[in-house]
Amino acid sequence: MNELMAVRAEVVRTGRAMLDCGLVAGTWGNVSIRVPGTELVAVTPSGRDYRNLRPEDIAVVDLQGKQTAGELTPSTEVPLHLAIYAARPDIGAIVHTHSIFASACAAARRPLPPVIEDLVQLSGGTIEVAAYALPGTEELAANAVAALADRQAVLLANHGAVGCGRTSAEALLACELVEKGAQIYIYANLLGGAQILSDGDVAAMRRFYVEHYRRRQEGEE
Ligand code: 13P
Ligand code: ZN
Repeated sequence: MNELMAVRAEVVRTGRAMLDCGLVAGTWGNVSIRVPGTELVAVTPSGRDYRNLRPEDIAVVDLQGKQTAGELTPSTEVPLHLAIYAARPDIGAIVHTHSIFASACAAARRPLPPVIEDLVQLSGGTIEVAAYALPGTEELAANAVAALADRQAVLLANHGAVGCGRTSAEALLACELVEKGAQIYIYANLLGGAQILSDGDVAAMRRFYVEHYRRRQEGEE
């Protein structure tokens, strides 16, 4: 299998994992991965069942959105994915989900503050809510990039969540941790109010993650 097909196969696996984790229902959500050493992105097709996807079904687009491979229509959120890649050279993969508790925060347009350790390590601070715009629009893409800033996740008002990472595993993990963090935040508020961590503790946890914990996860330390 050549490298492009290997990346398309990884998009398939990540899409199935996103479905299996309960982060999306049906065909919604989408996944993309940069093809290393190229100006290409492999992205899920629009409106297709993740369970039936094959590597050759994964669309390939250039950084302007022109399709270079795949027969199926690329995700309607290609503008969102490409805008994030253009703004963030450090990002290699993006997962967009409609998970329930993250979407509840997004529907209330309530950012997710730093209240729980694993998400704080990964995000380094508040997960912001991007200003509302219709799905699939350049406006949504611009709003998401602005609210994402230098973090690894952002909520889309009245829509869902986006997780980013250097790899597809990291992008999917961001979505899982945002969903878990959103659930905890909502429950903690039912119990009388989530306590927000200090900027100093947030910075310390983020530093530990980048310098040690992430390296352990990758078997490098
Ligand atoms: P696609 O099926 O076109 O990727 O759209 C799903 C979605 O979540 C739109 O925001
Ligand atoms: Zn969506």
